[in-house]
Amino acid sequence: MHQQPTASHFIDGQYIDDTAGDAFDVLYPATGEVIARLHAATPAIINRALDAARRAQTDWAALTGTERGRVLRRAADIMRERNHDLSVLETFDTGKPYQETSVADATSGADALEYFGGLAGSLTGEHIQLGADFVYSRREALGVCVGIGAWNYPTQIACWKAAPALACGNAMVFKPSETTPLSALKVAEILNEAGAPAGTFNVVQGLGAVGASLVTDPRVDKVSLTGSVPTGRKVYAAAAEGMKHVTMELGGKSPLVIFDDADLENAVSGAILGNFYSSGQVCSNGTRVFVQKGIKDAFLKRLSERLKGVIMGDPQDPKTNFGPMVSKNQRDIVEGYIAKGISEGAHVSFGGKRVDKAGFFIEPTVFSDVTDDMTIAREEIFGPVMSVLDFDTEEEVMRRANDTEFGLAAGVFTADLTRAHRMAAGFEAGTCYINTYNLAPVEAPFGGMKMSGVGRENSKAAIEHYSQLKGVYVAMTDVEAPF
Ligand code: NAD
Repeated sequence: MHQQPTASHFIDGQYIDDTAGDAFDVLYPATGEVIARLHAATPAIINRALDAARRAQTDWAALTGTERGRVLRRAADIMRERNHDLSVLETFDTGKPYQETSVADATSGADALEYFGGLAGSLTGEHIQLGADFVYSRREALGVCVGIGAWNYPTQIACWKAAPALACGNAMVFKPSETTPLSALKVAEILNEAGAPAGTFNVVQGLGAVGASLVTDPRVDKVSLTGSVPTGRKVYAAAAEGMKHVTMELGGKSPLVIFDDADLENAVSGAILGNFYSSGQVCSNGTRVFVQKGIKDAFLKRLSERLKGVIMGDPQDPKTNFGPMVSKNQRDIVEGYIAKGISEGAHVSFGGKRVDKAGFFIEPTVFSDVTDDMTIAREEIFGPVMSVLDFDTEEEVMRRANDTEFGLAAGVFTADLTRAHRMAAGFEAGTCYINTYNLAPVEAPFGGMKMSGVGRENSKAAIEHYSQLKGVYVAMTDVEAPF
């Protein structure tokens, strides 16, 4: 249990535990060893966290935006200074290679804290002149926000929610995924150290039931979930009962379209990045790879050559570039989909098998000859499984790309500039890419259309989802009443 935190929860500026809560283990996915044991939040813990957030929020919102921003930017600096330690922890928690966590997790979290810290001082309402009278709008915090995280990017998810929420003057209670509960505690420690008043950012642990109690609590004004569509449905419905604001960052089955005029090597790189980074456990992955018929064979050949560069091993070794699935359960789900792909007639052109070693490893897998109706082309797998489909024309591929209930991301590789922009305009997806894939800088809006979500994270757009406008009418003359 070499990664055991001081306690399970972080509330009101300190670590706290309640051993009456159900115990659950945290495993290192590369070996299956238990690295920590935590307790799920009891009703008393949940109560304490929400009370602390409620109390802290008023004073936090009363600070100037610049003062709040200073705290966030200080937290960003601390996070960057501790990047190595945070990355090692994230690798233990998720099994993602250190090669990735050292550049994409705490660094992305720090980017969010820095960006929203910078914006905090310039948040404004509007002034609207109406003859002599005028209206001004005040941009106000929502109150207490609940953040609920998935297990694939624990630090990033905590920061993508905390940074805009705190910048706008909200307090937050964050529940990480029970599979990867460790790094959010570090985010809380860092915010505390950076000067965020006690209670501004709290972490409580537990399974879905803890999330569900948070969502329905009347002290909560907003819920931001990163998770699957089925969970999103439940959380959105529960939030609706209390008329709470929501952000829903949900799953996807995104198309990645490669035309035959594309730079083949670049397109192969895009498909690798968009399917096998984090062993395929990325919500925006372009898992339906549509390749124009003229280059399909060349694409598959080059892809197989490049996949031989996979180095699977101890994720803490900086040379390892492909890690295990986050859990045994996730590996079983992915194996089930691979079996389904085979039974429905798709051809395995690379990988396809569980790796015979400790931990939850599975090979990067490419299916060719996939058709639109196959299960592997319709459902989110959330693992290293790429489906390659072919197509003839732009109109045809546009229609097929959009033929999904999801709408998180989409990408196109082509040398034809106007076609690239036509495709981006036509995709029913919230996050689109031209000649690249899966980049998610904090400056760009990120989020889904259709079943993939509601609202946007990152960019100035996130401010709209963590604040509300109050209109104030100011009369310059006396009221004219009818009687
Ligand atoms: P999940 O839906 O199983 O769980 C997500 C979180 O919700 C967990 O913390 C879980 O404990 C909690 N939860 C479960 N039931 C709940 C309930 N009834 N009320 C409140 N909270 C509840 O998802 P997961 O398996 O942890 O993560 C994988 C999913 O997340 C994939 O579908 C993936 O696409 C999605 N995801 C989306 C994004 C995005 O930004 N759009 C990013 C990462 C992951």
